[in-house]
Amino acid sequence: MSYPTYEQANPTRRWDGPISDLWPALRSKAYHAQGDWWWYILPNGLLVACKIGAGWRKIVRIARLDPVDEDAWKAEVQDVIAHLTVPGGWYELPVDDEDRGEAAHVAVFLELRSNEHAPGLSRCEDCGTEIPSEPIVRPMRCETCLLRHRLAALPDLPDRHAAIIGER
Ligand SMILES: [Zn+2]
Repeated sequence: MSYPTYEQANPTRRWDGPISDLWPALRSKAYHAQGDWWWYILPNGLLVACKIGAGWRKIVRIARLDPVDEDAWKAEVQDVIAHLTVPGGWYELPVDDEDRGEAAHVAVFLELRSNEHAPGLSRCEDCGTEIPSEPIVRPMRCETCLLRHRLAALPDLPDRHAAIIGER
């Protein structure tokens, strides 16, 4: 069964391929859109949009025009987002009423970096302290653990302090 929103959509916006192929296609279109949204409408009536945000983070917006049961909505969002794989996972953002438009349901997700648990936030891999994240691939350490780690790694240098200052 196809929804009217799917039937009425421009053919270039209808996603008629397998769900496993959606993310590569959507992501590629979003990169070409250079900061604007690209979207596809799925046969079940879901609108799945993506844009490339600040710091090259992808933002995904999933919306449904017609109201459905809240549990059904949550299940279909999870089903789609599970196919949109990013190394750091997704962080669900709150949606303001004015961002909802005509849609009955909207969910918005921001791509996390692989060292983040929330946008802009990491946990020190040694002590678990929450610290601002940096756009790096490796795990983060707080200043205290970073210093301790560097001292431990440089046991035999005559001037350890100078070595540490020069390292970073
Ligand atoms: Zn630490």
